[in-house]
Amino acid sequence: METIQTDVAIIGAGGAGLRAAIALAQEAPNLRIALISKVYPMRSHTCAAEGGAAGVIKPDDSYDHHFHDTVGGGDWLCDQDAVEYFIHEAPKELMQLEHWGCPWNREEDGSVAVRPFGGMKIQRTWFAADKSGFHILHALFQTSLQFPQIQRFDEYFATDLLVDDGRCQGLTAIEMRTGQMRRFNAKAVIIAGGGAGRMFPFNTNGNVNTGDGMAMAYRAGAPLKDMEFVQYHPTGLPNTGTLLTEACRAEGGVLLNKDNYRFLQDYGMGPETPKGKPVLKTMELGPRDRVSQAIWGEMQKGRAVKTDWGDCVWLDMRHLGEKKMDERLPFVRDICISYLGLDPVHEMIPIRPVMHYMMGGIHTDTKSATSLPGLFAAGECACVSINGANRLGSNSLVEILVFGHRAALSAASYAAGVRPGNEAALTAQAEANQSKIRELFMRNSDKESIAGLRKEMTDTMEEGAGIYRTQEGMDKSCKKLSELRHRYQDITLHDKTNVYNTDLLSALELGNMLDCAEALMTSGRERKESRGAHQRLDYTARDDVKYLKHSMAYFKGLEAPSIDYRDVVITKSQPGVRDYSGAKK
Ligand SMILES: Cc1cc2nc3c(=O)[nH]c(=O)nc-3n(C[C@H](O)[C@H](O)[C@H](O)COP(=O)(O)OP(=O)(O)OC[C@H]3O[C@@H](n4cnc5c(N)ncnc54)[C@H](O)[C@@H]3O)c2cc1C
Repeated sequence: METIQTDVAIIGAGGAGLRAAIALAQEAPNLRIALISKVYPMRSHTCAAEGGAAGVIKPDDSYDHHFHDTVGGGDWLCDQDAVEYFIHEAPKELMQLEHWGCPWNREEDGSVAVRPFGGMKIQRTWFAADKSGFHILHALFQTSLQFPQIQRFDEYFATDLLVDDGRCQGLTAIEMRTGQMRRFNAKAVIIAGGGAGRMFPFNTNGNVNTGDGMAMAYRAGAPLKDMEFVQYHPTGLPNTGTLLTEACRAEGGVLLNKDNYRFLQDYGMGPETPKGKPVLKTMELGPRDRVSQAIWGEMQKGRAVKTDWGDCVWLDMRHLGEKKMDERLPFVRDICISYLGLDPVHEMIPIRPVMHYMMGGIHTDTKSATSLPGLFAAGECACVSINGANRLGSNSLVEILVFGHRAALSAASYAAGVRPGNEAALTAQAEANQSKIRELFMRNSDKESIAGLRKEMTDTMEEGAGIYRTQEGMDKSCKKLSELRHRYQDITLHDKTNVYNTDLLSALELGNMLDCAEALMTSGRERKESRGAHQRLDYTARDDVKYLKHSMAYFKGLEAPSIDYRDVVITKSQPGVRDYSGAKK
């Protein structure tokens, strides 16, 4: 097996991975950096982000406001030391992107423009029309090209980490073009593998978001934290799940039920305000968990709009007018016309909540270090945790920058002091990883299909871990996931060739999703309270006495994971009531 010698290997070339690579190249110019990605960097999911990125910039805003919006939005499950670091670094990172060429929208006077966003009680979301993620990723990618020490391995699929002597020392990856296994020897590894939304049948995520990074770390012994917290975004297209950014509502779009009534006022989200005015604090700018739950409430009450794709509510943007729509939300208009045949300038758009984001992920400390020495993690695959039980929109694009940068600093200083590894032990491990793949090619039974198992997995995820959950539902889904993980051992490949074998990659991705799914469902089953995005019909109240804690899921082979708990770091904000009524206090 060919071995590639590097100093720091980064798995993932989305926003977090690219930001880490640039920081490493700048901070430690002598380090060799291997940037490994299963897709060309610009195809990473960061590219699909629309709405924007939050950072304090306006005179009426303050770090304190960003802190409290984030911690309250997260239902007090955020680690407040991490949030403190995050909010202070956020504007620096966004300004740095500006200098690297990210075309932020401007005010009339030429200063950076911001828009409101859900759960942010002050406008602080920087944006580049509704293509913010594309421009961020582009600015990062083109900047990364100027550093020759960043060696790219595009279309390499990382399979497993190499761990010996109690520390991570590299990984194995399949070169997709040839089907050959490669071994990367590294002093430190950063995982920036993105989210895992494809575990769910109806989601906004790119096909590549299959939780590979989370699963690799988990199998190597690093725990997954707060996996039960799954964000449903209120406004997905009902047929494809394609996201209509929160900026639709930030720019003044409103949500209506079948009677054309702005129902959010019935769910503790404030009085009705004039149509077309951006409304802060209330109504359409409530946090995502609350708005999605309210839509579910309307469906239960029979007040939803019936469509060919099931129950929906209306997103009405007609009053914004064509000029504003084309200036601020051109992509949204395109999406509605292309995928639904409706023009939002003239017609109301049916929408329904869609699985969007994983608050949980690989447990890291505020320096992006996991509990496995030599292994660091950043971005959506990590849980540091600034998002707690519910992420506020526009915090994630900044999180990937702040903690991608932080992971690089930690990995560089760790790599400087690392002793050489045991070559024989690492070789044996890499060969064992290769044998696992070979074994997949050898199987000939037709017992289990990839598509069949994946369908059963996504169905059970929706049943057990939807917007509202019950003990019975989650018990049933845990049992099903355990069964699927056992049946996965009999999976068979139909394509036995080497070049771009997507059958093999789908099989590996399915295995990763099943590992993440079981960690998620088991953590949810054990959390007997309702907090943020984890809402239970049988335990409706938040229980700070028992559950003001992070759940930690540990991999146990084919057995269910063991779940442990870890204290939340509270510095200055004691748990309180989340109030989005807009009432003056
Ligand atoms: C449609 C959509 C809109 C969004 N809009 C916003 C927004 O407006 N504001 C906001 O703050 N957040 C938004 N988010 C969330 C945010 O965009 C993501 O959380 C964030 O971009 C994730 O970045 P990342 O670098 O962690 O991962 P990604 O950008 O997903 O990159 C993951 C990388 O890992 C690589 N990878 C994965 N597995 C492997 C493997 N096995 N081997 C090799 N490489 C691998 C991939 O190739 C990819 O390069 C949105 C998300 C979606 C889905």
